[in-house]
Amino acid sequence: MKPAPFGYLKPASIDEALEMLQEHGDDAKIIAGGQSLMPLLNMRLARPGVLIDINGLSDLTDISEQDSRLHIGAICRQRRMDDHALISTRLPILTAAARLISHPQIRSRGTIVGSVVHGDPSAELPAIALALDAELSIKSTKGERALPVRELYQGYYMTAVAAEELVTEIRLPIPTAGTGWSIQEISRRHGDFALAGVVAFVTLQGADIGDCTLVFYGLGESALRLESAEQLLRGQRPGKDSFRAVAQEVSSQLTPDDDVHASAQYRCALAHELTIRALEEAVDRATAGGEL
Ligand SMILES: Cc1cc2nc3c(=O)[nH]c(=O)nc-3n(C[C@H](O)[C@H](O)[C@H](O)COP(=O)(O)OP(=O)(O)OC[C@H]3O[C@@H](n4cnc5c(N)ncnc54)[C@H](O)[C@@H]3O)c2cc1C
Repeated sequence: MKPAPFGYLKPASIDEALEMLQEHGDDAKIIAGGQSLMPLLNMRLARPGVLIDINGLSDLTDISEQDSRLHIGAICRQRRMDDHALISTRLPILTAAARLISHPQIRSRGTIVGSVVHGDPSAELPAIALALDAELSIKSTKGERALPVRELYQGYYMTAVAAEELVTEIRLPIPTAGTGWSIQEISRRHGDFALAGVVAFVTLQGADIGDCTLVFYGLGESALRLESAEQLLRGQRPGKDSFRAVAQEVSSQLTPDDDVHASAQYRCALAHELTIRALEEAVDRATAGGEL
């Protein structure tokens, strides 16, 4: 199919983009990489009257480190997760995630911020952003605000970003030295969206788990943090028994839907196994002082 007719605007500055968003409101859609939006337009699942193309806003391409966070601009492409030195040294989980996101052609156009704002429930970047307690910087003609990613998702593809707002950057906290991490998923073919996935961060206190964060994707309406499972792990000695107890809690708490790709029961079984794998890998990395 072809998209329904739409107008096309290409602002030359952030202020111009904000004016356009204010003028067109609900009738407009921002296009960044277009790798989620174009399929929706082609299938006529979205029918905006106007597309506002932000690819000319060269101020929004940067990656920088400030205040122990990586600041990533709104049109920074996902391929930078493969090749940018700051990302591979400060947030290597993004480099690992890049290998799970589709194929190089998609990552060459798709943006990091676009993926987080789009909020596909099976996408890797929303889960990582949630696990890191990242924050979005958002602008409109009325001013600027910061929105924690934990307040972003409000249901299937529903977010707290208003129609007249532009997300200008994401700020991802860099984990403290010695934090172990893991991203694990199962998809039918390499590059497909995940049937189920988990992001884990772990710090040790002596021989025990000091703190941990567990976020799941492909298993609900959006990326989902399970604090009850994290709580079970804190203060425990890492090992098969404690990991199995957490995995049991995970599979009992998650309530995914059946769909054409997998049954809810199968997704829960995957979440159980992936939780154990993620905790093993994150603890190995934490034991090695975050150097693996
Ligand atoms: C074949 C294929 C396979 C894929 N596989 C995967 C996969 O395995 N894992 C995965 O995570 N993703 C996958 N994707 C999606 C891809 O990662 C997209 O690039 C990403 O989801 C959206 O980023 P984008 O820059 O292309 O956003 P767009 O498609 O341009 O926009 C997506 C939505 O976000 C909004 N938006 C974008 N930027 C902003 C902004 N700055 N401010 C406010 N709103 C904004 C748009 O209005 C739109 O509603 C796949 C895509 C394709 C086509």
